[in-house]
Amino acid sequence: MEKTIKKTVLEVGADGVGIITIVNPPLNLVSVDVFLSLKKSIEEAVQRDDVKALVIIGSQNKFSAGADVTTFGKSQGKKAHTELGFLSIEFVTDTLEAARKPIVAAIDGPAFGGGLEIALACHTRISTSAAQLGLTELQYGILPGLGGTQRLPRLVGLPKALEMIMMSKRLSGKDALKLGLVDAIAPRDKLLSVARHWALDIVDYRRPWVVSLYKNDRLEPLAEARIILNLARSQARERTPNLTHPLVCIDVIEEGIVAGPRSGLWKEAEALLQLRQSDTCKALVHFFFAQRATLKIPGVTDMVLSPRNINKVAILGGGLMGSGIATAFLLGNYHVILKEVDHHLLSAGLDRVKANLQSHAKKGKITKDKLETVLSLLKGVLDYDSFKDVDLVIEAVLEDVSLKQQVFADLEKYCPQHCIFASNTSSINLDKIGEKTKCQNRILGAHFFSPAQFMPLLEIIRTERTSLQVLVDLLNVSKKIKKTAVVVGNCTGFAVNRMFFPFSQAATLLIERGADIYQIDQAITNFGMPMGPFRLADLVGFRVAIASGSQYIEKFPERVYKSYLIPLMLEDKREGQSTRKGFYLYDEKRKASPDPEIVKFVEKARIISQVIVNPQLSRLSAGEIVEMLFFPVVNEACRILAEGVAIRASDLDIASVLGRGFPAYRGGIIFWGNFIGSRYICSRLEDWSKVYGKFFEPCPYLVEHAMNETPLGTETKHASRL
Ligand code: NAD
Repeated sequence: MEKTIKKTVLEVGADGVGIITIVNPPLNLVSVDVFLSLKKSIEEAVQRDDVKALVIIGSQNKFSAGADVTTFGKSQGKKAHTELGFLSIEFVTDTLEAARKPIVAAIDGPAFGGGLEIALACHTRISTSAAQLGLTELQYGILPGLGGTQRLPRLVGLPKALEMIMMSKRLSGKDALKLGLVDAIAPRDKLLSVARHWALDIVDYRRPWVVSLYKNDRLEPLAEARIILNLARSQARERTPNLTHPLVCIDVIEEGIVAGPRSGLWKEAEALLQLRQSDTCKALVHFFFAQRATLKIPGVTDMVLSPRNINKVAILGGGLMGSGIATAFLLGNYHVILKEVDHHLLSAGLDRVKANLQSHAKKGKITKDKLETVLSLLKGVLDYDSFKDVDLVIEAVLEDVSLKQQVFADLEKYCPQHCIFASNTSSINLDKIGEKTKCQNRILGAHFFSPAQFMPLLEIIRTERTSLQVLVDLLNVSKKIKKTAVVVGNCTGFAVNRMFFPFSQAATLLIERGADIYQIDQAITNFGMPMGPFRLADLVGFRVAIASGSQYIEKFPERVYKSYLIPLMLEDKREGQSTRKGFYLYDEKRKASPDPEIVKFVEKARIISQVIVNPQLSRLSAGEIVEMLFFPVVNEACRILAEGVAIRASDLDIASVLGRGFPAYRGGIIFWGNFIGSRYICSRLEDWSKVYGKFFEPCPYLVEHAMNETPLGTETKHASRL
């Protein structure tokens, strides 16, 4: 028989309370060993005459961060099935919840997933106000599998339980108290003594002994519960139409309400076993670890360089991006100077920042006091006079090489010697931008995505001359403004825009040859993107698209698809959503509707480019549209990997999800490419390149992987040049 590794410690006090401490540092993750140890400790304590009641607590002020995510998404055999049944029913329900002595959970730090589910089965929960509680399993493509789907609704009521489970929401101890999820709050240094007293009070019948699985007073009557569950189903379908696990989870909750909690527990265990092996779970687990991996930058984060203090930040340009970036820095409590070229543009920029912050306050993301405080950190200027003590400048002026070159040369004159110069350029090679600047070691790219105050990605571009210190400083800043930073090398379009440039190009190529604009957008949104390429082009604006496009045409003339469509639309004063006319027409509320007049521009562009219409393209299936738009993205991502622009393939997954909204449940662009298979992608691209030209031609990296049938991005041969 396998020996269990001891993961809990039982200590019995003179008051007759047995304290069971989970000891599985650093996060006290729950594993089979933890469960077996807990079971043993509880059984021992229940047997002992000197123990009246029990308290379960986690070591090092952390209750338990839940199950080990590395075990999700792996193939599970019969043993796992038995284990899951054992954990949920035999341990949580029959040993812990049914113990003959009251058990109190004393919660500090994280109590997530399986960790919280242990606490839910205890007879009372006491927590610190800063503790974090949540059933976060849905974010990994699974569902709570240790009775959480049955106990949480019975403790907090169905609507609140659904909100927590469906959104993988984390609550502070303070908020959990309001819901009835915890019974009392105690300061950290008194947590254990309050829990002890509470346990003894239960023994003395001064407080109730609650078995949450059979608690019914918070459950709505069946008819009402069904209405709530059906509403949750339709919201889940609307939010994530391609995902089934949220619906499975609702079915499991319903089973417990209709057929009783024990039946619900069995259905939950069965569902968990299935979901743990699903493609969605594999993709979401990959995404979770890929995001963590971005924190490691070889040769940078492993050096002993401490970030310097950045106190004052200047933003150049108060347009769409500058105002969003300023908002992000203010929310990170930085002093921000916003510079514009004239009074009118400056006041428009400052107004945008204020509106952004007010909208945060309206949504309850910041308090009114915080709004006032951060607004006092903002200053608008028209010259460089106040730049003499600025630590970091983010340039967000128009996408124009000579303007940016001039601005960077000016900065050198007015800023202190330590000041970092970052550009938010979408596509211009940073060496070009810094051509007129002497101190090129202080230059790097800080590429934010629109809207900058919300989008979670910061693409940091280091040139061959960027100093390590400057990079370390910006990485630290990115944490403070709550962005996930992906560090990439310097090239035209960097990683994100370069990967996705072929996406819009393929869309344009297809419509000029007969495909339908609105059908393409529909297929792409059905795939899971936030919007299709044409709706996106309208949002970004045609002038930005032309400015960026010109960089690609200059750099990659041999494979860029040249189209006259957007210039023709610009001639007609169509600039996209800002002019309420682009590929769509927009009403005052920015609601988009298809424009029948678009055909005119497409036909004109076709004539100029001498393109022949292929009637088959008007009958493309949604799957074919997805392939024709995304396989070129995979192809470009392969070039990026081959050139060593990205540190690792999974960084491109993160960049595609957080920068462009590629669905996280597909794992990111490279993960998805591997799921489809490099061989298939390569052969399709080869077929299309024979018909439509070089634009579709697979790159050598992709061809090599297709031939060898090796997954994209796993080799060490193409070492990063970063
Ligand atoms: P925008 O036209 O909305 O704003 C640019 C602002 O810069 C204008 O208000 C202009 O008056 C100001 N400006 C020009 N010269 C200046 C100077 N010398 N000092 C101070 N201000 C000056 O443009 P935007 O969409 O905010 O784009 C700004 C930059 O961000 C561009 O490089 C663009 O490529 C990049 N970017 C744009 C997006 C996007 O979605 N629009 C996304 C990422 C990056």
